[in-house]
Amino acid sequence: MNPKAPLVSAFGISAGRFSVVGSEAEVRKHVADKSHVVDLHGMTVVPGFIETHSHPSLYAMTLLQVDCYTPPNENVGHVKARIKKLADTAAPGQWIKGWGYDDTLIAEKCHLTLKDLDEAAPRNPVFVSHISGHLAYANSLAFEIAGIDPETPQPEGGEIEKDDLGIPTGLLKEEPAQRLVVRHIPPYTVGKLKDVLQTAITYYHRNGITSTHDAAIGYFRNGSQTIQAYRELEAEGKLDLRIYMTVVEELYREILRSGEAKGFGSNFLKMGAVKFFQDGSIQANTAALSEAYKNKPGFSGELIIRQDTLDELLEGYHKKGIQIAVHANGDRAIGSVLAALEKANLRYPRKDHRHMIIHCQLASKDHIARMKRVGVIPTFFVNHIYYWGDRHVSIFLGPDRAGRIDPVASAVQEGLTFTIHSDLPVTPVDPLSSMHCAVNRMTKENMLLGPEERISPLEALMAYTTYAARCSFEEDIKGSIETGKLADFTVLSDNPLTIAPEKIKDIQVMQTVVGGRVVYECG
Ligand SMILES: [Zn+2]
Repeated sequence: MNPKAPLVSAFGISAGRFSVVGSEAEVRKHVADKSHVVDLHGMTVVPGFIETHSHPSLYAMTLLQVDCYTPPNENVGHVKARIKKLADTAAPGQWIKGWGYDDTLIAEKCHLTLKDLDEAAPRNPVFVSHISGHLAYANSLAFEIAGIDPETPQPEGGEIEKDDLGIPTGLLKEEPAQRLVVRHIPPYTVGKLKDVLQTAITYYHRNGITSTHDAAIGYFRNGSQTIQAYRELEAEGKLDLRIYMTVVEELYREILRSGEAKGFGSNFLKMGAVKFFQDGSIQANTAALSEAYKNKPGFSGELIIRQDTLDELLEGYHKKGIQIAVHANGDRAIGSVLAALEKANLRYPRKDHRHMIIHCQLASKDHIARMKRVGVIPTFFVNHIYYWGDRHVSIFLGPDRAGRIDPVASAVQEGLTFTIHSDLPVTPVDPLSSMHCAVNRMTKENMLLGPEERISPLEALMAYTTYAARCSFEEDIKGSIETGKLADFTVLSDNPLTIAPEKIKDIQVMQTVVGGRVVYECG
């Protein structure tokens, strides 16, 4: 991925960095006699994958929660049975958390209700997150603890869903509503988080990843515990995945105030961007669109933050020189974020801010051109094409808009730096699968979605390496195999640039190496 020497046959490593890169003969000249030599027998080596939007710590926490995904759960009864099983052995009053419920995959095609969760756990407060992370369900005890009743006013940017009689149904939309309950749930201990983070790190290594953004630390609370867990793992020499911490605004402000942000800066743990949310998810009907949802005529979603407030917030961080990352899926939300960033950059011009728009699913060609002008990096949630593409056509967006999601080829044409991502735990983290989505644009039901937005395998690989390194200002140490850079690389069974594009997802990760140390080996 070094444009000056795109294909080489050997490299040497010393002290965790590439010490020489070139032909085998050249490299042999430079390495000491006692060097350990590895022959990869023609396998392919790529720079270690950099995942620019996923949530290792949130994923780790889901390992401590009830599995509410479909599969394995086919119907609401299955989900209730899993919660009940835990509730039957839990002490009364102990919180029960679940993750992954999907109303469009479950047989009944409905949301969980207060009654469902009361039946499953009458003596315990329950909080279950939707697969999108943008909706959640709670039971009566949880609402009682949170003080939510029919009189509770709607929080700005969120909604406590109420029935025709004004009684809360159990459904909470977006973070401002979820927060009313979440703030009463005791955080996990640092020790427990360290355990599950190590499991999460192994999962990333298995998929060839050597660096990731932890993209919304503090979103479901546990923020300071998560940062502490990372710091302790690093101090103990157990953090062998490089973490760029993007932190939700509330916690970011606290860290700035305490001056703690200055304490970070190793190549394993860095403070990253401040994170905002300007809408929710298409599959939760909470993304802010410019035209109504197919399944909700007359309804096009809401912006989370009022435009004038957003303008002010983003300008504040922009002028301090801080990187900003804003979640925006719908075209209306993307336009709103761009407007705020354009205004901020006009008043306080910064050349190299690298602000990011996260997911960017319904970005228009005009949005892409504006991103290029103002210097914004979009990261596209291309896994949606495979996992939700069919449902975007039939349920949420209709064929025309669904064909335009994740316009990666438009970004390439505009010469824009962009990346692609998995958003783990929303979809599995697997860069080769995400690259496959961007290159082939095939849905789960084998429908080709928006063929004109397909990109080449090389562009998809750049999105996971050279471009991805730019998102954390680390292109001088990461993203390509070059002398002096960190020896982070991934050994693949086949070359993604020469294999048939429809086979990219079948390529196996054979080995993952971080700083010259093998952290995963297949078999
Ligand atoms: Zn996310």
